[in-house]
Amino acid sequence: TSDTTQPNDRNNATGKLPPGMVLGPDGKPCKICTAFRNWKPAEGQQAQNRKQAQDAKAAAVMAAAASGTSSQARPDVRPENCPPDVEVLGRSTWVFLHTTAAYYPDKPSPTQRANMLNLLHALPVLYPCSHCASHLGEEMQVYPPDVSGRIPLSRWLCERHNEVNERLGKEKFDCAKTDERWKDGPSD
Ligand code: FAD
Repeated sequence: TSDTTQPNDRNNATGKLPPGMVLGPDGKPCKICTAFRNWKPAEGQQAQNRKQAQDAKAAAVMAAAASGTSSQARPDVRPENCPPDVEVLGRSTWVFLHTTAAYYPDKPSPTQRANMLNLLHALPVLYPCSHCASHLGEEMQVYPPDVSGRIPLSRWLCERHNEVNERLGKEKFDCAKTDERWKDGPSD
């Protein structure tokens, strides 16, 4: 895709939302697409018109709902029993996907291959963070999943994860180390 900007950038460009706040496909602040820390209203920022005030109010209400506190007294640390934000959801999903790939057979049966393909193809449709899902869908069109065996699947997944890492400005993971990270542990 030619659009590599994060939704955050696009939202910020409009100047209507606090930095890092992400809108969902319905145009409203999206809780599951936004990191918890970004639910705080930007310091010193005042609504400049009625629409902005409405956006901020909607965001504050959702933030309070997410944290179980009032928006006046929001903690910086995410309470343990909060619903997941984009980071908790992402981390948990990667743990599941990388571990499942690490234990996938070297020589999968046709049924195992078909089930793995179904699992992966479901993600762009069902993954709750909508902008994450659509980025993954675009990636999967260019790089179709390789479910022919444990090693190619682990590599394919590692590369998809690295695409997200890169987009978020994080370090790339060494894909030669997926077994060590997700199956065998360090050799010491
Ligand atoms: P994570 O990136 O969650 O990684 C967890 C652990 O996996 C790391 O500690 C590391 O040990 C290991 N690891 C890291 N990279 C690799 C790799 N390449 N291969 C194998 N293991 C690795 N967030 C957004 O803000 N925008 C998005 O568009 C977005 N898209 C996503 C798409 C999908 C399909 C998923 C599952 C998540 C997405 N996320 C997105 C969430 C994001 O990838 C992270 O999960 C989140 O930012 C938390 O990052 P983290 O630093 O805790 O580590």
